[in-house]
Amino acid sequence: MPEKIQAVKGMNDGLPPETSRYAHIEARARRILEAFGYREIRTPIAEYTPLFSRGIGEGTDIVEKEMYTFSDRDGRQLTLRPEGTAPAVRAYVEHSIAHADPVTRWYYLGPMFRHERMQRGRYRQFHQIGAEVLGAAEATLDAEMIAMIDALLRDLEITDFTMAISSVGSAEDRPAFRAALVAFFEPKKDQLCPDCQRRLVQNPLRILDCKVEGCRAASVGAPSPLDHLGEKSRAALATVRSTLDRLGVPYEIDQRLVRGLDYYTGVVFEPRARGGSLGAQTALGGGGRYDGLVESLGGPATPAAGFAMGLERLALCLPGEPNRFATPIVAAFVTDGEDARRLALELSHPLRLAGASIEVDHRGASLKSQLKRADKLGAHWVVLLGTPEMTERRAKLKDMRTSEQTEIPFDELGKTLREKLGR
Ligand code: AMP
Repeated sequence: MPEKIQAVKGMNDGLPPETSRYAHIEARARRILEAFGYREIRTPIAEYTPLFSRGIGEGTDIVEKEMYTFSDRDGRQLTLRPEGTAPAVRAYVEHSIAHADPVTRWYYLGPMFRHERMQRGRYRQFHQIGAEVLGAAEATLDAEMIAMIDALLRDLEITDFTMAISSVGSAEDRPAFRAALVAFFEPKKDQLCPDCQRRLVQNPLRILDCKVEGCRAASVGAPSPLDHLGEKSRAALATVRSTLDRLGVPYEIDQRLVRGLDYYTGVVFEPRARGGSLGAQTALGGGGRYDGLVESLGGPATPAAGFAMGLERLALCLPGEPNRFATPIVAAFVTDGEDARRLALELSHPLRLAGASIEVDHRGASLKSQLKRADKLGAHWVVLLGTPEMTERRAKLKDMRTSEQTEIPFDELGKTLREKLGR
């Protein structure tokens, strides 16, 4: 026997009915995002590596430890995208979108890749629903985005979550916060992992979201960016808060919230699941303002904000039984012989085109086993085309919910099925 080949570790197959839950989330997300004025973009799965190393930041976990980077056959370094913002900004700059419209609202859905340690809710290929607004600086936009995420979660009937909000401060606020962090961590240097010892010099903010236990312990009591906000950043956070209050969107200020990507400036947020459905992970998503990224990737100075949510984590929190969003089989044809099977195909074809999900069993199995399968599939109606039915040209139509059975002449069968199936 040849050896079985397995899927890559951390990259999962999506199988039914789980996929119907993903499709439901995606459909609802599209509806809400489009209602808020966002339009879809689709960027490539791979980009040239410097987009991420420069965009996300050299000192981040993603860039240092998690990227899938390889050289293609031309010897160029490519990276499977670990997130969607840098590619969106690259596309925005590359297509000179700023010239066409002063404000751009984009969303995306798709797979992302990070070589992370696997856990419940943490994979190496996962999917994000994300959105970016480019060209607007006012903090009411940040509030609108947070309110939209709140609305999406509630639309999905995910209610057991909190919206954590903070500000990491602007580029002007950063030096004071950075100095405070260095002063705090310098005496504890020995407790930090080798990466964080290096980060202490390069990018001390990153120590705050290091996943190593020792670094987490050493971070307790560390200075918060909220204590080092300048006038403008404080005003922006206040605007976000008062706007959310006015919209009736609940949130909590989290002093300790820093995001794992370097490009954030100003208000940041993170919807978090409560109630343990995600195990050790709690973040359903994350986002914030990134006013410097467009310029740092070669575009015009452009204020911007964005977020991304994890599709698999949303699916883990989605209430209801696994089949809840699967398309039900409404009717199954149980047939004896090829003529009956062909008749079944002929009758089911227009109904299928009208959107009814219909099963025709092509195994040539016994009537009993076909009936059993129809029942297992949850078909509401069974159309029985056995030998006596074919001879007498009358099908038996069985309502599987009531077990009631009627006989229908072939020439009335199409019409009857259309009525019964509401098509
Ligand atoms: P980030 O881009 O790191 O801010 O992540 C945004 C969201 O994407 C997180 O809150 C998760 O819901 C999801 N996410 C990030 N990394 C993973 C992963 N490795 N596996 C599954 N979901 C992830």
